[in-house]
Amino acid sequence: MMTRECAVCLLIKPEEEFGPTYSERCRHTVRQICNICTYQSIRVILDDAISNQVSCPEPNCMVKLISDEISRVLAINNDQILLNKYDRYLTTRSLDLMDNFYWCAHGCGSGQFDDSKKTRDLKIHCDVCEKDTCAFHRVKWHDKMTCDRYDKLHPSIDLMTNKWMKNNSKICPGCQCKIEKNGGCFHMTCKKCHHQFCWECMANYTTRIAKPQRQHKISCQHHPIGNFLILIRLMRRREL
Ligand SMILES: [Zn+2]
Ligand SMILES: [Zn+2]
Ligand SMILES: [Zn+2]
Ligand SMILES: [Zn+2]
Ligand SMILES: [Zn+2]
Ligand SMILES: [Zn+2]
Repeated sequence: MMTRECAVCLLIKPEEEFGPTYSERCRHTVRQICNICTYQSIRVILDDAISNQVSCPEPNCMVKLISDEISRVLAINNDQILLNKYDRYLTTRSLDLMDNFYWCAHGCGSGQFDDSKKTRDLKIHCDVCEKDTCAFHRVKWHDKMTCDRYDKLHPSIDLMTNKWMKNNSKICPGCQCKIEKNGGCFHMTCKKCHHQFCWECMANYTTRIAKPQRQHKISCQHHPIGNFLILIRLMRRREL
């Protein structure tokens, strides 16, 4: 009897237990990982988070398995529970990609097809929970409100991100790249060119300089004297 040692469990097993390759795109003709270990490694990935990101576990292969190949491994190993879960995942994914399918926004897990050309102010009624969903915004139906009105009350995420970027990003004086503020710290270091500068006054802020504080512009609150001037200005204002 021909035998082989499994690269994972290190058991000597008959060759039949190293079945055929699971994918036609595999870069190896034989397998070094036994059937049980192959299945276990795929099960661990899918149990953790169901997805299509499953690769052939053979050393030096790493070919991404397609959904039929993943289903086949689960079917051969009689894992009906995981197979059902994976099927549901595939169905959900294909529905997500359809423009005329609308998930119920009330979380009942159901959804509806609708082929009307109109998209704004289109109310989709759920057959399962009897509640309504806005087809355009894909949210719970906004009662007594048109989609236009809803837009005005809910500035889009894009607008908000733009605003956030404006307040929290600057152009690096070193490489002209956009760089994001790093927490509450005013001492910025560009990840691209490693240029260091002050967030407030954009002054070059290299720690090699003996007194880095002096590098700030006098108008900057981080300048030792500037700080003092701001304090005086504040005190004067209080006196007035
Ligand atoms: Zn094994
Ligand atoms: Zn492979
Ligand atoms: Zn529903
Ligand atoms: Zn709407
Ligand atoms: Zn830079
Ligand atoms: Zn500064």
